[in-house]
Amino acid sequence: DHGLSEADPEVRTIIDKEKQRQLRSLELIASENFTSRAVMEAVGSCLTNKYSEGLPGKRYYGGNEYIDELETLCQERALAAFHLDGKKWGVNVQPLSGSPANFEVYTALLNPHDRIMGLDLPHGGHLSHGFMTPKRRVSGTSIYFESMPYRLDESTGIVDYDMLEKTATLFRPKLIIAGASAYPRDFDYPRMRKIADAVGAFLMMDMAHISGLVAASVVADPFEYCDVVTTTTHKSLRGPRGGMIFFKRETVHGVDLESAINNAVFPGLQGGPHNHTIGGLAVCLNHAQSPEFRAYQNEVVSNCRALASRLIELGYKLVSGGSDNHLVLVDLRPLGLDGARVEKVLDIASITLNKNSVPGDKSALVPGGIRIGSPAMTTRGFKEKEFIVTADFIHEGVQISLEAKRSVPGSKLQDFMKFVGSPDFPLMHRVSD
Ligand code: PLP
Repeated sequence: DHGLSEADPEVRTIIDKEKQRQLRSLELIASENFTSRAVMEAVGSCLTNKYSEGLPGKRYYGGNEYIDELETLCQERALAAFHLDGKKWGVNVQPLSGSPANFEVYTALLNPHDRIMGLDLPHGGHLSHGFMTPKRRVSGTSIYFESMPYRLDESTGIVDYDMLEKTATLFRPKLIIAGASAYPRDFDYPRMRKIADAVGAFLMMDMAHISGLVAASVVADPFEYCDVVTTTTHKSLRGPRGGMIFFKRETVHGVDLESAINNAVFPGLQGGPHNHTIGGLAVCLNHAQSPEFRAYQNEVVSNCRALASRLIELGYKLVSGGSDNHLVLVDLRPLGLDGARVEKVLDIASITLNKNSVPGDKSALVPGGIRIGSPAMTTRGFKEKEFIVTADFIHEGVQISLEAKRSVPGSKLQDFMKFVGSPDFPLMHRVSD
C-alpha cells in the first residue's frame, strides 16, 4: 500500500499546487477557513472505511462500537459548544453539508408544496432557502416547496421586518428561515419569533456563516428563539466540511422534531454517515469550547470592523453601512464597477474574494458588489493592522479595475481580462516584486 506521492503523483501534484495557492493568497472568501491539522488527521483516517447507517446504539451494521462512541461524543460536544442543555435540545451530526441539512429539515417539518419564507438570494440569502427566479425554480427547495422570499429594506440594507410581517400574514408560511450567506448584521430573532408565532410557522435559523461566532457568544444566540438551527461546520466554526441540525426536544405544530429530523436524515435523504467527517467535527467542537477559540472569534469580529472602517475611510459604500459579524459587502456601483471585474483583478494579485449581488442590482448576472470575510486570514494570524493594509490592497485593485475599464477599448470583459492577464498589468509587477 503506497502513499499518495507514489500511488498517484498526478493527484499529489494538484494537491500541492492547491496548497501553495492557499498559502500564497489573501483568503477573504467569507465562507472559507483553514481547519486544523488535528481535524485533517481525523478526516484522513480509517473512519472513512466504516458503514454505520442509523444512530448510536441503533445501527444497521455490526462493528460499530467505536463509531457509536465517536458519534455520541460528537453530539455531546456539539451541545456543549453551543451551551445547550441536552434535556431540551438534541443534535444530528450526520448531515453531509449545509444544503442537505436544510433540505432534511424541510422534509422533516413540511409536506411537499407547503409554504416557506427565507431571505431572497440577491439580498444575501442562500440558494437552499428557496431561491427562484420569475422564470425558473432554481433550487430543490423552491421546486418541492412554495417559496416567497423576504427582502432587505434597500435604503438601510437591514432586513425589512415590517414587510416580512405583512407578507407572512398574507402568505401564511409553515416555516420562516433566518440566516444568510451575505448579510453583515445580526438577525432580530425575537421579532422573527413573534411573526412566526402569529402565523403558526416554525422558525429555523441557518447559522452556517456565523456558527463560530454563535459558539463564542459574540453575536446574538438563535437558540433562545428558534425551533431548529442548522449549520455547516467548515466556515467560521473552522471544522471539516459537513453539517449539523439542532432541534428542540419538543413537539411543535404536531411534529415531534427529534424523530422527524432524525428520520429525514436517515433513511429519508442520506445513507451511511461520513464517519471521518464526524471524527473531524468532534475535534473541532472540542476546540470550540476553548478560551483560544473565543479569542479567535472576537478577533474575527474586530478585524472585520477594522476592515469595514478603513473601507469607509477610503470612500466605499458598504451595504448596511458596516458590519456586526465576519463579513462586509461593498457596493461598487457608485464607482461604475461591477463585482466580477474586481474579483478577477484581485484574483490575479492573489487576493481571493467573491463578487456578490447587492440590494438594488438590476440583474443577478452582473453582481454590483464584492463580499469580504475575515475568518480565514484571522486564522492565519492577521490582526486589525493587517486588515487595514488588506483594505488598502483591495482599494488598489479597485483603482486598477477602474483604470483598466477606462483604457481598454470597448471595455468588454474579454479584452479587459486579456489586459489584466498581460505583463503590462500593474498589479502583477507589484506581486512578483
Ligand atoms: N447555508 C448558508 C447560509 C450558506 O451560506 C451555505 C453555503 O455557503 C449553505 C447553507 C450551504 O452549505 P454547503 O455548501 O455545505 O451545502
